[in-house]
Amino acid sequence: MNTIEKFNEHVMATYGRLDIVLESGKGQTANAEDGKQYIDFGSGIGTNSLGYCDSDWADAICAQARSIQHTSNYYYTKVQADFADKLCTSTGYKKVFFGNSGAEANECAIKLARKYSFDKYGKDAERNIIITLVNSFHGRTLATLSATGQDVFHNYFFPFLEGFVNVEANNTDDLKAKLSQYKGKVCAVMFEFVQGEGGVCPLTQEFVDAIFEECAKDDILTIADEVQTGVGRTGAILTSKIFGVKPNITTLAKGLAGGVPVGACLADEKCCDVLTKSTHGSTFGGNPLACAGGQVVLNKVSDPEFIKEINRKAELFRELLSQIDEVEGVDGLGLMIGVRLKTKKASDILTKCAEKGLLILTAKKKLRFLPPLNISDENIKAGMAILKEILDN
Ligand SMILES: *Cc1c(COP(=O)(O)O)cnc(C)c1O
Repeated sequence: MNTIEKFNEHVMATYGRLDIVLESGKGQTANAEDGKQYIDFGSGIGTNSLGYCDSDWADAICAQARSIQHTSNYYYTKVQADFADKLCTSTGYKKVFFGNSGAEANECAIKLARKYSFDKYGKDAERNIIITLVNSFHGRTLATLSATGQDVFHNYFFPFLEGFVNVEANNTDDLKAKLSQYKGKVCAVMFEFVQGEGGVCPLTQEFVDAIFEECAKDDILTIADEVQTGVGRTGAILTSKIFGVKPNITTLAKGLAGGVPVGACLADEKCCDVLTKSTHGSTFGGNPLACAGGQVVLNKVSDPEFIKEINRKAELFRELLSQIDEVEGVDGLGLMIGVRLKTKKASDILTKCAEKGLLILTAKKKLRFLPPLNISDENIKAGMAILKEILDN
């Protein structure tokens, strides 16, 4: 049996995969088993933030593996302390809970928000509703699927978790209407600044301001799901900085540790002590390998020069995209890029790009790029040349 046959024999078929077996990588280039090379504009859905096998990152992970790889959370480790310190100081948060994925970071945020209101207003108040947005994506566990505001995900697995109410993104009237309908029952509003899986759709400044204004009136926590938008992706350490707001809770995952599993739920002074001993946990949470990788990512991303480069490269992408006739428009922020096409089908383009040696993603009807944050100009240009040839022919 070859790799793909063996794979399909024993791995559940939950993903639509291309017939490509990736074996190794360096920088922004992935190498397949058959010798073919690919420029990667997807970086493992925004996880390989420093590309494949960045040498500083790989050195840190290898050194950690040779020192101590895991301890459980019955003990302290220096590497977790250092990572938490770096993460909190570079983002401006007080404390963090570590998990292993975006869904887990969001589960933590949901539990934290509910307990915040439970502790403060009592069980009988039933202040447990979390408002989320239509077209959002928050993860694949039952709670985060329940939070996800897309009907396509609400299938098969009934019953889903109660207590989620959806508001249309960028519709302030709808937000106000739902808050007044459920007055006194809402403990949090949860949102992505740019809806990633929903099709790279940014919130407007006006709507973001309305969320913070309305939540402040009734002690409702704000939860920013920055699992995809965080850690430099949009051209800032957190996208909340671009919008000039400070959510009570921010969740991170994807690119945070450069391609090893990690999730983080950051909380501010107001709610960072809500989750107390034995109310939450995760065996692998704060794993030393993830913390070692994460420190390397944060050291780079918290450098203003690195951020400036992200924004310059984002401009280069947009400039080159504007030279493609088939491109109708470009959405997103920084290196989180959604491309609207005039006539062609995104999924067909994805396949054709792969044939020509370029890996991209799609989101709804758009092409989506989440390239490594340190992608070279040369590879941006080479990838865009492949795309232009496919789109304009
Ligand atoms: C990817 C993603 C998640 C889920 O993260 P997993 O690591 O797959 O659990 C949650 N929220 C957003 C915004 C995401 O993009």
